[in-house]
Amino acid sequence: STPGGSRVREEKIVVTVRLRPLNKREQLAKDTVSWECIDDHSIVYKPFPNERVTQQSSFTFDKVFGPAAVTESVYEEGVKTVALSALMGINATIFAYGQTSSGKTYTMRGITEKAVHDIYQHILNTPERDFRIKISGLEIYNENVRDLLNSESGRNLKLRDDPEKGTLVEKLVEETARDDQHLRNLINICEAQRQVGETALNDTSSRSHQIIRLTIESTLRDTSDCVRSFVSSLNFVDLAGSERASQTNADGARLREGCHINLSLMTLTTVIRKLSVGKRTGHIPYRDSKLTRILQHSLGGNARTAIICTLSPASSHVDQSRNTLFFATRAK
Ligand code: ADP
Ligand code: MG
Repeated sequence: STPGGSRVREEKIVVTVRLRPLNKREQLAKDTVSWECIDDHSIVYKPFPNERVTQQSSFTFDKVFGPAAVTESVYEEGVKTVALSALMGINATIFAYGQTSSGKTYTMRGITEKAVHDIYQHILNTPERDFRIKISGLEIYNENVRDLLNSESGRNLKLRDDPEKGTLVEKLVEETARDDQHLRNLINICEAQRQVGETALNDTSSRSHQIIRLTIESTLRDTSDCVRSFVSSLNFVDLAGSERASQTNADGARLREGCHINLSLMTLTTVIRKLSVGKRTGHIPYRDSKLTRILQHSLGGNARTAIICTLSPASSHVDQSRNTLFFATRAK
């Protein structure tokens, strides 16, 4: 990260935290709120009366969003500049990271919707360029890749290395969007397809990663001698539940349930940690998992990344929330 001040706009990795409201189930279970956003940058642990706090209890980030914040603010203040850099030929990736039920899917859906709106607004306002938007969607479950736009293609698509384009997913369907509504329909198909898998295989959304990838191509119109073209990827990534990130994060109960470490999630956290300390070259273990292979060209290098870390406020989830905040701290 760039040291000093509010230079969010130039950061390669922007890390924000979103604390959701206590939900009905947590309220019924008499769960209480254990975290509070005390200003735009700080989140603090609220101990029980007489509790002796031995762990870190205050965390600061580029931006934190409390339970009253709407997704629009999260987008505007934490994601927009990263997402829109993809219109200028810069690869970009937006992640939602957090434990199961912390609000990743809720947040990602809203963010994707806002980004689609802004992309088409930009296209309207930039008549001198011709744009083409393509979309693909995939899910990684147990290191198997499935096409979310083609339910016929099976659950184990192969990856292939292309010298120019990087890692490609063989046979992955890519559709060209005719307009913004068509693009929204295609995104909805991906969401619905992900849910189909969920009923067939127990609890997949906590274990699987979803990537919606937009490929944005544009060419400057009319100049015959100097055609300037851009092409870039914009990735929306709804990650597996962060309780799958490491064994040490898992409490006893989780281990008994058989909480398998998720290779892609673990590798991603390592990659992000290395990138955040400025090692944007040198050995970064992209090749150790499917997720990081697929995203390699949209991470590191000139690529820009926004990570939204989602948190449940509930006292019953304090350990997982703290783990998420530690991850967020290491990522910035
Ligand atoms: P995850 O994808 O991390 O497992 P979800 O996005 O499915 O979690 O969210 C769990 C539940 O909490 C859903 O019912 C969702 O609608 C609700 N929820 C999540 N974030 C918020 C929020 N910021 N405001 C209100 N409700 C939320
Ligand atoms: Mg989800």
